[in-house]
Amino acid sequence: MRKRLLALLLCLAMVFALTACGEKEPGKADGNDKVDPDEVVTPVVTPAPTPEVTPTPAPTPVLVPNLYETVRNYWSESQLTQAWGPNKPVDHIFFHPIIAYPTWAFKDCKIPQSQREGLDDWMVTVDEYNKILQALYDNGYILVRIEDVWSEVTVDGTTRMVRNTLQLPEGKKPLIISFDDVNYYQYMLEQGFTSKLLIGDDGQIWAECTDPYTKETFLTQDLDAITLLDKFVLDHPDFSLNGAKAVMGLTGYEGILGYRTQTDRDVTDPTELAAFEANRQKEIEAVKPIIEKLKETGWTFASHTWGHIRLESRSLAKVQDDTQRWLDEVGSLIGPTTVILYPYGSRPDGNDWTKTGESFQYLQSVGFRVFVSVGIEPFSFIKKDISAVICDRMHPDGTTLRWSRDRYLKFYDAKDIMDVENRPDLGYDWE
Ligand SMILES: [Zn+2]
Repeated sequence: MRKRLLALLLCLAMVFALTACGEKEPGKADGNDKVDPDEVVTPVVTPAPTPEVTPTPAPTPVLVPNLYETVRNYWSESQLTQAWGPNKPVDHIFFHPIIAYPTWAFKDCKIPQSQREGLDDWMVTVDEYNKILQALYDNGYILVRIEDVWSEVTVDGTTRMVRNTLQLPEGKKPLIISFDDVNYYQYMLEQGFTSKLLIGDDGQIWAECTDPYTKETFLTQDLDAITLLDKFVLDHPDFSLNGAKAVMGLTGYEGILGYRTQTDRDVTDPTELAAFEANRQKEIEAVKPIIEKLKETGWTFASHTWGHIRLESRSLAKVQDDTQRWLDEVGSLIGPTTVILYPYGSRPDGNDWTKTGESFQYLQSVGFRVFVSVGIEPFSFIKKDISAVICDRMHPDGTTLRWSRDRYLKFYDAKDIMDVENRPDLGYDWE
């Protein structure tokens, strides 16, 4: 397997490489007592009603109700009377894909203990995620678009980023959510995660999932971070400002959103290459409507680099090659974005705060303006020497559930969230 396929993953700077489950385990129904069969939802296929009389053969567009209109228009301008100025920080949290089958991931999946602890460190389970969303909502947060928080302005010929004043409903606090690695990597499918996004017969986004015990593949909206947020916002339209949802960070080396849209420079045999390209084009066509639908329903996209590279230690040439590949293979599908989420939280040139190094300058030159790392508070800093803002995100996951309860109390209480029963017994510092 090529090096980059192993050189994954996950966004924090710790040394931690998840790879595929070592062995494939034949279907094993026992030990599956934590999987609620009600979670296994298959989209309802409603037979199209037969029109009674069709006097003229007028073209009949497929009418999918636009459920999202209610969200987009929930708050009227006259209700947005709270000014959230540049001196007030905007909280930003991020998630990795969420663990659909905690008993599989934490107990039954045949992976080395170090990988299991990696899952524990950097992921939350479906139940934890649902509770976190509810707590964020209960604590008065409202989702805002990262693209609305900062803007680029030119004054006297100098172009810089500025923090905007957000207009919010009274009593609400702004929140940016981002999701890293919304790529549905192959190795994750074997660890009890969902496998791709697609559009169901109802016109909405669904996730494909394979039960790791029964190997049954089905569609669900209840086991994937993206579709769960979709559902939560539909149920709580006041959780979103003007239809905002969250930003998805995408790498490119295994395609995007579960579609294998990437090139492969190792495939050189003409016959093999032709087959590879044919499949790639099919995947590209298949993902386009998903992207459209996601954009329509409040999602935006960001780069997470093509190869999930460490920007602090890569040469400029490597960063350029990687970025160009991301723009060609991912940017060409999702459209322009100004946001880059650093893999591993790793800052370009080792330091993006007190210096503007050559990799940073290059990334800015191709259009990135919002440079996002990982930290312990809603830090942000508008650069003085170049049009760019750097900012940090907090990270709800096993490490912070266990060891940073106090810092996260403004969002939720880890005591109410952490799935102590399923997670490995690795301790925590609260009682
Ligand atoms: Zn990542």
